[in-house]
Amino acid sequence: MVQVEEVQLTQNASKRIKLSNIERNELSQLQTHMNAMLAAMEKDRQRLLEDEQTKRVWLEDAVAKRTEELQILNEKLENIARVDSLTGVLNRGSFFETAQHIFLLAQRQKSPASFVLMDLDHFKLINDTFGHFVGDKVLIHFTQTIQKLVRKSDLIGRVGGEEFALFLPDTGSEEAFQLAEKMRKAISESTIEVEGKTVTYRVSIGIEIAQAEDQVIDALFKRADIKLYGAKDKGRDRVEQ
Ligand code: GH3
Ligand code: MG
Ligand code: MG
Repeated sequence: MVQVEEVQLTQNASKRIKLSNIERNELSQLQTHMNAMLAAMEKDRQRLLEDEQTKRVWLEDAVAKRTEELQILNEKLENIARVDSLTGVLNRGSFFETAQHIFLLAQRQKSPASFVLMDLDHFKLINDTFGHFVGDKVLIHFTQTIQKLVRKSDLIGRVGGEEFALFLPDTGSEEAFQLAEKMRKAISESTIEVEGKTVTYRVSIGIEIAQAEDQVIDALFKRADIKLYGAKDKGRDRVEQ
C-alpha cells in the first residue's frame, strides 16, 4: 500500500512496485499487473510528450511559413503602391518622395544633382493614329529604352500621362546633358513594331541642375518644366538646359 501510494503521490510512472517475501499468489499477480499498468502509463506519457513536441515544431514551422508569406505579400503591396502598373517605373508620388530624400542628402553633402523632365512629342497624335493600345506600347518602350541608359542609382518616375522624370544624384550639368542627348537620340532612332505597324516617336527634354539654396525637389521640377516648354517651343525632339 505504501509503494502504491508513493506512485500516486509522485505520479512517477517509472516507479515499479517491489514487494518482498511474496509467494506465487494473488499478491504477486497484483504486483505484475500493477507494474504492467505503470509501464503502459509511462509509455503513453512518453508518446504524449513526443506528440506535443512534434506539434510544437509543426506549429512553429507553420507560423514561420505564414509570417514569410505575409512579408512577401506586404512587399508586393508596397511595390504595387510605389510603382506605375503600365511601365513599372516609380509612380508620381513615390518618385517625388524618394527623390526628395536623396536630394536633401546630396545637398547636405554638397554633391551635384540633376533633374530631367521628359515629355513625348505629339503623343495624342500617336493615340489618334494608331490607337490607345499602341500608345501604351510606346510608353513601355520609352521606359525600357531609358532604363538601359541610366545608372542604377538614378530614379525614374512617371509624373504624368506621357511625362517622365529622372533624378540623377551625383550628376552635374555636362553629364546630365550628355545623358539626355543620348536618350533623345536613342528614342528618335528607334522604331516599334506593333500589330504589323511601324511606329516612331520623339521626346522633348528639359534639364535643371540643383542650386546650393534649393531645399525642395519641387523647385527643380518647376524649373525643368520651363526648360521643357522651351524645348517644345523650339520645335520638339530636343534637349534644353
Ligand atoms: P506635346 O508634344 O505638346 O506634348 O503634345 P502631346 O500630344 O504629347 O500632348 P497632350 O498633352 O496634348 O497629349 C497627351 C496625350 O497622352 C493625351 C492622353 O490621352 C495621352 N495619354 C496619357 N496617359 C496615357 C496612357 O496611359 N496611355 C495612352 N495610350 N495614352 C495616354
Ligand atoms: Mg506630350
Ligand atoms: Mg504632357
